[in-house]
Amino acid sequence: MTTATTTPVTIMRQHLIDPEICIRCNTCEETCPVDAISHDSRNYVVDASKCKYCYNCISPCPTGAIDNWRHVVAETAYPLAEQLLWDTLPEQVALDESAGVGAGDTATALPDDVEKIAAASTSGQGGVAPPPWSAAHPYINLYSIQKPAVATVSGNFRLTAPDASSDIRHIVLDFGNASFPVLEGQTIGILAPGLDAHGKPHHVRLYSVASPRDGERPRYNNLSLTVKRVTADHEGKDVRGIASNYLCDLKKGDKVNVVGPYGTSFLMPNHPGSNLLMICTGTGSAPMRAMTERRRRKAQPKEDGKLMLFFGARTPDELPYFGPLTRLPKEFIDINFAFSRIPAQPRQYVQDLIRSRADEVVGLLRSENTYLYLCGLKGMEKGVDEAFTDICGRNGLEWKALQAQLLQNGRYHVETY
Ligand code: NAP
Repeated sequence: MTTATTTPVTIMRQHLIDPEICIRCNTCEETCPVDAISHDSRNYVVDASKCKYCYNCISPCPTGAIDNWRHVVAETAYPLAEQLLWDTLPEQVALDESAGVGAGDTATALPDDVEKIAAASTSGQGGVAPPPWSAAHPYINLYSIQKPAVATVSGNFRLTAPDASSDIRHIVLDFGNASFPVLEGQTIGILAPGLDAHGKPHHVRLYSVASPRDGERPRYNNLSLTVKRVTADHEGKDVRGIASNYLCDLKKGDKVNVVGPYGTSFLMPNHPGSNLLMICTGTGSAPMRAMTERRRRKAQPKEDGKLMLFFGARTPDELPYFGPLTRLPKEFIDINFAFSRIPAQPRQYVQDLIRSRADEVVGLLRSENTYLYLCGLKGMEKGVDEAFTDICGRNGLEWKALQAQLLQNGRYHVETY
């Protein structure tokens, strides 16, 4: 009688990124502490030999594309070169087929704690911080690239003055009878038609919803977006934004393929007495408009806490929603505009105004009912952080400790690009 020889095989749980859902926002690559994530012009990929299963990259991913795993034989884990060519993720292969793991072979499972962390990370939390305790439950991933929702453009209005240097638009999409429920702070993905330089469909581009949950027009199945026509990159080099130009050129009645919604973290609290401290630049105002409008429409605004807004733009002409914002009653919202390019005036940024309103801001930071939202240019994060450190330090608070507590309690939310 012969006995089967046992060749030990190591089975690993390989971390992969779904190229179909990934919006190439670079958050995962920026977050990874061991440089396991890299990308080329098409795909973001994970190096199996470097990934340490720390899961730092999971929650910041806006779409969940990062949260994909396959059990593979360690020696034949998917190499980077192969991942870079994928249009879709491979199915989980039965391990006995993939590497001849026979009945007599032994598989080395992952340690228990790794599996446990993995299970926690795949529970669909999303976002850096948990949502506020009183946030409504968001729906996510209802529509995919294969099965997008088809919305109809019911309006496309220029928000910036005709002679302003930027073309920012308020675009209204109507979903007809399709179910597309969104909450303030969520994002949707736009599929621009046509093919990229590689002959592949364009990647999904994300935009924040600028209208409240009951529609741009109350009780209509529509929503709005705030879109700036991209004609230059952050360094000022000429670049034609694929999705932004597509959206800005849309006419009433045009059809648009939409995926999502996304976002389970950057959501507003719903309990009476909660304060919103909102800080934004440019089109980062979209979620702030949605939240402000939600509060404005509620029957008893007096029940609610305070709203304080810091909003940075080049000039009043370049500030989306400037007119409507200035007409809101002062007792409803405390608005602070920072303009950076008014001729003969010193450049002002949101962080400068946070410093100049230190007493009121610290007052809000001291309240356990205050929720902070930061949205817009990536560059402002540092400046705002320094302003908070400064004003907290001068008022007996330690910003880093407070920030950690705010994050943990779902009271600090950042969305910058
Ligand atoms: P922008 O017009 O270029 O800038 C807005 C204001 O921010 C200007 O006054 C600008 O000053 C100022 N600024 C520049 N650097 C700053 C810094 N380090 N700290 C504080 N303020 C600073 O803005 P934008 O082009 O609209 O960009 C908005 C950003 O929001 C984009 O990155 C976009 O991706 C992001 N976003 C958009 C949406 C959406 O739904 N559309 C949603 C979320 C986020 P200067 O005069 O010095 O330039």
